[in-house]
Amino acid sequence: MLANHHAHTHFSDGVGEPRDYVRQAIREGFTSYGFSDHAPIAPRDIGSMKLAALTDYSAAIAALQTEFAGQITLFKSLEVDYLPGVMNVSSPHILAAGLDYTVGAVHFVDELPGGQPWSFQRPNPVFKRGIDTIFGGSARAMVERYYALVREMVTQHPPDVVAHLDRVKKRNADGTYWDERADWHVAAVEETLDAVAAAGCILEVNTRGIYLNEITDTYPSRWIVELAHARGIRLQVNSDAHRKDHISGGFAEAYGMLQDIGVEQVHLFDGQEFVPAPLIQPWRGDAAGPPRPSH
Ligand SMILES: [Zn+2]
Ligand SMILES: [Zn+2]
Repeated sequence: MLANHHAHTHFSDGVGEPRDYVRQAIREGFTSYGFSDHAPIAPRDIGSMKLAALTDYSAAIAALQTEFAGQITLFKSLEVDYLPGVMNVSSPHILAAGLDYTVGAVHFVDELPGGQPWSFQRPNPVFKRGIDTIFGGSARAMVERYYALVREMVTQHPPDVVAHLDRVKKRNADGTYWDERADWHVAAVEETLDAVAAAGCILEVNTRGIYLNEITDTYPSRWIVELAHARGIRLQVNSDAHRKDHISGGFAEAYGMLQDIGVEQVHLFDGQEFVPAPLIQPWRGDAAGPPRPSH
């Protein structure tokens, strides 16, 4: 039951066509694969996928579902930004897209002077400029605002899957800006996990930081996954691939971590709902890595 529910293509900021990813997924033994390109950000249309491309995206995936029926199950999703007052999973263009499930993410934390949404993923000087100009130089204020937005998202407009819960740490891998173990930070994370549990969302364990060498572990970190598991939050492992050679990147590490923690199942979409599935067996307890294509 090898699956991935969070993935990109050239329709947003990924490389290559959906078909390239499907072929690779079949080679690696995936049973299901869900496309979740970045949703167009209406109404200003500032996202990497433009509103006008949404119809083509839907048509491309529908065609592949037919072409590869019987070989792999394909799903149509979008990674939907939560932007208060601007966009969420209930926005008209998202509902109209007829998605199998939604992936919800916070990438932007308020706006720079001038009204440009500020992404905490941007390298310096933009990262620092956002903290300085929006949050008076306080990284803590920025991080607390980030988690407040995630809580707002799951409480008011819950997606099926919450993407990369602690992605805000991307530019803080070495602890330059804040201490992940500080009481205020742990409290913000715990309050957010409580909200995710109450909303019944799936929490993804995102491996992108591992294969890109951004961080040494997953989004979210192991200690957060442990707290989530203790709350009974349903989990799944996603690669958030933007290139076809990354579709199972970091899976060995993530599944190994889940096994270490005592997680016995992940939740995979079956076309109707998310159902429990055992952790992937070939990766249990060793570093064998993902299955390789047999040529
Ligand atoms: Zn994302
Ligand atoms: Zn993504």
